[in-house]
Amino acid sequence: MQIIKTPIDHFINGRMVANTSGRTQDVTNPATGSVTGVAGLAGASDVDAAVAAAKAAFPAWADTPPIRRARVLFKFLELLNIHKDELAHLITAEHGKVFTDAQGEVTRGIDIVEFACGIPQLLKGDFTDQVSTGIDNWTLRQPLGVVAGITPFNFPVMVPMWMFPVAIAAGNTFILKPSPTDPSPSLRIAELLKEAGLPDGVFNVVQGDKVAVDALLEHPDVKAISFVGSTPIANYIYETGARHGKRVQALGGAKNHMVVMPDADIDQAVDALIGSAYGSAGERCMAISVAVLVGDVADRLLPKLIERTNTLKVLDGENLAAEMGPIVTKAAHERITGYIALGEQEGAKLLVDGRGFDAKKAGDGCDDGFWMGGTLFDHVTPEMRIYKEEIFGPVLGCVRAHDLAEAVDLINDHEFGNGVSCFTRDGNVAREFSRRIQVGMVGINVPIPVPMAWHGFGGWKRSLFGDMHAYGEEGVRFYTKQKSVMQRWPESIGKGAEFVMPTAK
Ligand code: NAD
Repeated sequence: MQIIKTPIDHFINGRMVANTSGRTQDVTNPATGSVTGVAGLAGASDVDAAVAAAKAAFPAWADTPPIRRARVLFKFLELLNIHKDELAHLITAEHGKVFTDAQGEVTRGIDIVEFACGIPQLLKGDFTDQVSTGIDNWTLRQPLGVVAGITPFNFPVMVPMWMFPVAIAAGNTFILKPSPTDPSPSLRIAELLKEAGLPDGVFNVVQGDKVAVDALLEHPDVKAISFVGSTPIANYIYETGARHGKRVQALGGAKNHMVVMPDADIDQAVDALIGSAYGSAGERCMAISVAVLVGDVADRLLPKLIERTNTLKVLDGENLAAEMGPIVTKAAHERITGYIALGEQEGAKLLVDGRGFDAKKAGDGCDDGFWMGGTLFDHVTPEMRIYKEEIFGPVLGCVRAHDLAEAVDLINDHEFGNGVSCFTRDGNVAREFSRRIQVGMVGINVPIPVPMAWHGFGGWKRSLFGDMHAYGEEGVRFYTKQKSVMQRWPESIGKGAEFVMPTAK
């Protein structure tokens, strides 16, 4: 039987454009293991074409009044709501996450578009009347020019939407370089933006890998780079982008802890751990991968957690009963099973082993997919690699702590600082925890505290390189530069040249 692979190429200057580099990557449905498409991997000349289109579109788009730019986004918002399920199905087909979770991803992306629709208000500057006699001073924010977003496989719709709605609302033109693992949603987004009335060249998509990323990092016409992905690549992007004179925000990996205090509601904590460790097969930068069980919590919580992990509904993501879908690729599956073997060697106690999962149970046609069940370890300790490193799969490790102070020290010593959570009924504990913890996003009885569109997203330590968080007001600041204007008119100009530092008169 001949396999039909859909070509998935670029979107440049308002139309689909074939890849010219000759390099490609297969796109696979992780539930079935079958190849469904082939993504072009851009070479430098494909990137040049996208940058040239974005550069040409910039002057007119930057001059378009913000309210008119917002109107295009309002129309885009309408189209997103109409096509939400279509986008969610595209995500499930290439990423594997369950359909309802994919719908949630699209919704959280839509939140940012709603925020960006308020751009006229967000771009309002400051004005001071009469800073000196006859002189006024004001500040305004102007777009940077061509900006690029480089995004990971795990949120092919939401993470690009952390970036481009704010960037284009602020008057920039944008190049998206999505993950080649699940590239199709980016092209559907491009079509919807065009249908919404976005001028050609304002939003472009270049499919690709390191070659395309390096071409963007080195391109003199690209003024800023937003990156989301793993920490080693985030570090590389930050350093290389800065060396080429660009503004960079690079969000990296994570190891998110959830502290369960002895006074917590144990059933609520179990629900929270199950959903946040195994939802999206643990392939979320805000997934909980470490449970910190304080005092006597372990004895009361673990029997329930084991039972729930063993009975997770691991099914084809299109099945509405599914709680967890497949792992994204064969390579990721191998990496995760390797970590489970390592955990055993390191001496952690394997309570539930997801490796034996029978793919037939996931649904018809799933035999060759990348399946595993949830894995649960106890007695994980800080020296173990399964504690220190990001596994990025459905593997939860339990660590024991005597008290809150020990839990806080443990978390603060970790190299990552993306998200964290504390389950307790005690207001003092909650307050102290929020203040002392060295992590960018904190949840109190909330396992995955992803900030809303107007608050901004970003971790601390090696989870973020750069100064500004994604979206929210920090996103607006990232995609604009401030200008100060001081003005007076001839009637108020005194006679003669002044040679001393001007002061208010
Ligand atoms: P990744 O780092 O492998 O890839 C991210 C992007 O970088 C992709 O577009 C990829 O094509 C590109 N890339 C990969 N290798 C490169 C190289 N050597 N040089 C230049 N570019 C390269 O990440 P991933 O596997 O797609 O996504 C999972 C990772 O992303 C996890 O570490 C996860 O924690 C992280 N993540 C972080 C956040 C956050 O907000 N902090 C959000 C989502 C995902």
